[in-house]
This record gives sequence, structure tokens and C-alpha cells, in this order.
Amino acid sequence: MADLETFRAEVRAWLEERAPASLRGRPGDIFHGTWGGRRPDFETPDHERWLAMMAERGWTAPTWPREYGGGGLSREQNAVLQSELRRLRMPAPLIGFGLVMIGPTLLEFGSEEQKREHLPPIVRGEIRWCQGYSEPGSGSDLASLQLSAVADGDRFILNGQKIWTSYADASDWIFCLVRTDPGAKKQSGISFILVDMATPGVTTRPIKLISGASPFCEVFFDDVPALARDVVGGLNNGWTVAKALLRHERTMVGEIFARSVIGGERELLGLARTAIGPAEGRLWDPLVRDRIVQSAMDERAFMLTVQRIQDAARAGQSPGAESSILKVYGTELNQRRRELAVEIAGADGLGWEGAGYDPDALARTRDWLRSRGNTIEGGTTEIQLNIIAKHVLGLPDGGAR
Ligand SMILES: Cc1cc2nc3c(=O)[nH]c(=O)nc-3n(C[C@H](O)[C@H](O)[C@H](O)COP(=O)(O)OP(=O)(O)OC[C@H]3O[C@@H](n4cnc5c(N)ncnc54)[C@H](O)[C@@H]3O)c2cc1C
Repeated sequence: MADLETFRAEVRAWLEERAPASLRGRPGDIFHGTWGGRRPDFETPDHERWLAMMAERGWTAPTWPREYGGGGLSREQNAVLQSELRRLRMPAPLIGFGLVMIGPTLLEFGSEEQKREHLPPIVRGEIRWCQGYSEPGSGSDLASLQLSAVADGDRFILNGQKIWTSYADASDWIFCLVRTDPGAKKQSGISFILVDMATPGVTTRPIKLISGASPFCEVFFDDVPALARDVVGGLNNGWTVAKALLRHERTMVGEIFARSVIGGERELLGLARTAIGPAEGRLWDPLVRDRIVQSAMDERAFMLTVQRIQDAARAGQSPGAESSILKVYGTELNQRRRELAVEIAGADGLGWEGAGYDPDALARTRDWLRSRGNTIEGGTTEIQLNIIAKHVLGLPDGGAR
């Protein structure tokens, strides 16, 4: 404990001296921040300085081992670091799938060479990653994927397509599931491979979401050479690696929504007070009051579950099937809250664009539309319920991923 207090004092002094003043009080969230990569898009020069100084200490990936560029902190030390960052309300120096998906997976399954090659650039924010799992005919039934990888000496030649690949057009590398043994049983013929998006033959085409944004793409592979040494976890063993990564992804998605529901009650109350209506706005409406209270209670109950799972993680347990619980409930809560916000706003909640609407109202409408995808991305709710039934409740097999 004394060591931790010394550590806290050091961290606090270091942050007080260096954390850019312009970023204090601007915490951001996991989807809005510095993604880094070969074509970085820093919001301000201070965001760039903040990334550089945190990366130098390995504090963009605080618990990763120092030999791979990480901070080498214990879980307890990381908790101290995070609480000091929260105290100043600093934004994360770096966000992205490198830190939360492929990095932890490489730590578990990568060869020494792969860890040394790929982890330090992730920590420094030099390489941005995307996830090539889904294909046009293979989403929930992921194991039916067809992207072909044919061995050719010390490389594989890739042909086929991925779809719904988030931020593929802004990413530098993709981690991909490919079929390396078409004759084997579905799951057994899959490998997990890393591909540089700059390789000739890789092209992307953005797809528009209902919210109007284009955060994801189709990705095409035409005779793309990928190196055999970039297969992670062994040839035809990709399914095991893929499932481990999905657990990290679902934990992340659940935690994102857990964090985003914090403060939901205040936001809804504020909105209800200012929306059209008598003196206290829509708060006079007992049905609205009831739904806000229900939402607040659900958020608090959910946060207790999140804390329990985080405690297990701190005690060294990897995310298990419980990550599906976070994913299902976190995304549903987020959807309900967005829906309620739009309903409370009345006609103001339906603006798409134009001078007649204030920017907050327009953002609210688009957030609501964007939230429709939450129960699909990272594995649909129906599939998560199957996983919970089978692996958490021990019910008989329901069938899918
Ligand atoms: C915003 C967003 C971002 C995404 N980002 C990525 C990404 O970066 N990389 C990536 O690889 N993928 C990504 N995806 C794709 C996502 O993983 C798939 O959309 C998802 O797995 C569902 O697959 P599908 O779209 O093929 O639907 P389908 O599998 O065809 O499902 C259609 C419907 O049938 C239901 N269903 C299917 N099988 C069963 C079953 N066995 N039991 C009960 N119900 C079932 C599903 O729940 C769903 O309601 C993203 C999706 C979205 C919306």
C-alpha cells in the first residue's frame, strides 16, 4: 500500500507538470479520440504531444510488458494511474483496436517475433488496426467464412471479401480470418493472419450507416500476398485465436456502453426539464418520470455487474462468457436511453439537418440511429444470448458463435 501511495505521488507530480492544460477537463470517450496510425488525425497539437509523452512511458498500454513498449505496471498501479487521469479528466492518449483487440490477443497467442514487431508500434500509436472477420455470407455463422488463403512458399495468396470492417479505409493493418484448409471441418480450416493494408490487391469501399456516417467498409482481396510468418497462433488454429479476441472485443464493447451510461440519468433529466411543456418541462409527465427512474436504476445495477467483472479481471481472470452479458445488457441500455432521449425531445428529436435544429438535437438524433447497430456489432444479441445460455447457464447447445 505504501508503495502504491508513493507511486500515486509520482504519477500525480508527473501529470501535474506535463499533462497539457488545454486537454484537462476534456475526457472524451473510447470512440472519440486519437486513433493514431500512418495518417494520424490529431484534433490539436496538444493531442499529439499528449500521445507522445504517454507512449514514451508506455502508458498508452500501461499493463503491457516493458519489452514490448508497454508500461509494465501491475493492475493496482494501473488503477492508480487511471484514477489520476480521471482526476484531471484527461482524454485517453490513444484509442483503437490495436490496444483493445489485437494487442491483448498477440500477448496471448503471438510468437516472440510477432510481439516485438507489432506491439511497440501499437503503443506508440503508429499503426492503426481493423478487424476482418465478417463476410457477406458469414456474420453470426462466422465459421463458414470463405476468404481463401492458398500457400505459396513462405507466403499465402488471399482472394475474397470482408464486409462491415470498421474504419478499414483509415487503417494500416488488418487482422483477418482466412480459410487455409477448405477440406477440413468449418472451424478447423481457419487461420488468423495479419495483413498490411498497403499490400497491392487490398481495396476498401465505404458503406453508409443509417446515421449518415460511413464508419465501415467492404474490403476486397485480389491476389494479395501475405507472409506465412504473420499467421498468429498456428496454421488452421485461427478459430481458437478468433474466439479469444472476440471475448476481448465484447468486454470492450460492454465497458464502453457501461461508461457511456454513466451520467445518463442527469442527461435525461436535463433534457426533460428543458423540453417543450409546462414549467418543469416534460417532468410533469409521470410516464416520462417513471422511465427516467427505471433507466437510472438499470444503469446502477449494470454498473455493479461491470465492477464485479472488472474485479475478476484485476484478479487475473481473462474475460470469459461473462463478456457476453456486458455486451447484451450494455448495448440494450444504451439503445433504450437514446430512444428515450429522442422521445422526450419531441419534434426536436427528429431533426436530420438544417438551421431549424440546434446541433445538440441533431447529434442526439444521429446517436439514436447509430445505436441501432450496437446490438449487431461484435456479435448480435441473439447470438450472445445463445452463448450465455450455453456457457453461463449451462443449458443445452443452441448452435452458433
Ligand atoms: C456498426 C457495425 C460495425 C461492425 N464492425 C465490424 C468489424 O469491424 N469487423 C467485422 O468483421 N465485422 C463487423 N461488423 C459485423 C458484425 O459482426 C455482424 O454484422 C454480426 O456478426 C451479424 O452478422 P450478419 O450481419 O451477417 O447478420 P446475420 O448473421 O445474417 O444475422 C441476421 C439476424 O439473424 C439472427 N441470427 C443469426 N443466427 C442466429 C442463431 N443461430 N440464433 C438466433 N438468431 C440468429 C441474428 O441475431 C440477426 O438478428 C460490424 C457491424 C456493425 C453493425
